[in-house]
Amino acid sequence: MNLENLKKALSGQPNFRFKQTHKAIFVDLISDWNDNTTLPKPLREDLNKNCSLEIKSELFGSKTSETLKALITLEDDKKVETVLMKHEDGRATVCVSSQVGCPMKCSFCATGKMGYKRNLTVSEIVEQVLFWQRYLHTDEESPDRVTNVVYMGMGEPFLNYDNVMESIRLINDPDGFNIGARHISVSTCGLIDEINKFAKEKMQINLAISLHAPNDKLRSELMPINRRYPLADLMDAVDQYVENRSRQVMFEYLMIDGVNDSEYHARELAELVNGPLYMVNLIRYNPTGRYKPSSAVAIRKFKNILLREGVKVTQRHSFGTDIDAACGQLAGKKK
Ligand code: SAH
Repeated sequence: MNLENLKKALSGQPNFRFKQTHKAIFVDLISDWNDNTTLPKPLREDLNKNCSLEIKSELFGSKTSETLKALITLEDDKKVETVLMKHEDGRATVCVSSQVGCPMKCSFCATGKMGYKRNLTVSEIVEQVLFWQRYLHTDEESPDRVTNVVYMGMGEPFLNYDNVMESIRLINDPDGFNIGARHISVSTCGLIDEINKFAKEKMQINLAISLHAPNDKLRSELMPINRRYPLADLMDAVDQYVENRSRQVMFEYLMIDGVNDSEYHARELAELVNGPLYMVNLIRYNPTGRYKPSSAVAIRKFKNILLREGVKVTQRHSFGTDIDAACGQLAGKKK
């Protein structure tokens, strides 16, 4: 799908065609323009030729899995991953990619190993949500629509800031998917200028920070970005965001065996993120190379220390280890 081509194809058409075609794509979920009989036939043919609604994809996981993954092939044959998580309470969360590959080189991440290829366009980001919306629409066993979107797939969303924000506006559009800003989360490795910019956005989108280490020495080893933006600066930016928005911030913390999961790390972390609007999300590491996930015992101990210190903690249910759901695992293998 290419929304730029759609705009071009509609130039010279009456204004209402824009709304009409958007409804056909995002609400009626058509995948062939001929299925929209309110459009004149020559226009439908033109649109099928210049703005195909076909999404080239490969689906992984079975109908009964709670997590499904799709590999989408883009116009230039590059591939990106997107994940659907079906929750018991009826929510359906889609995890979208924002770049092909990633330049951030976090040592634990499979996407980082692929290197950086390019930013995704607005259409390529929105298409990932559209793919799952269509899937849910036709699958009777599942929730009937996407309820939440998280920018936690391949890439660093804040390096593709404008396209990410534009894609959020489309996902949020009441005449389209109509997914509330409060149900959309953007996760960053900690780019401070963009966190400051994000704090001034009108929409109430959630912010998540990939922390993964409670001190500069360890964080710089795991995440090279920490050398440019050390923890004190990062936490200042996050404090500023919290003050501006009065919104909760989620800190993602991967639990990696013998690396960042000791009781000492837990106490350091508790000191770092102790604020009323902070919460920590513990994620069992999905092994993709040299590290191993922490044991259940280590995770429980770690969590209890945080709780005792008054830190709000949630533990991410480890979705999709059977389908290589960790970001970049699948696209990395399929290259
Ligand atoms: N670049 C952004 C968003 C993409 S990664 C960021 O850094 O936040 C989304 C989340 O998945 C991040 O918290 C990332 O650290 C985490 N992640 C990366 N590799 C993982 C793995 N193998 N297992 C579990 N989580 C992983």
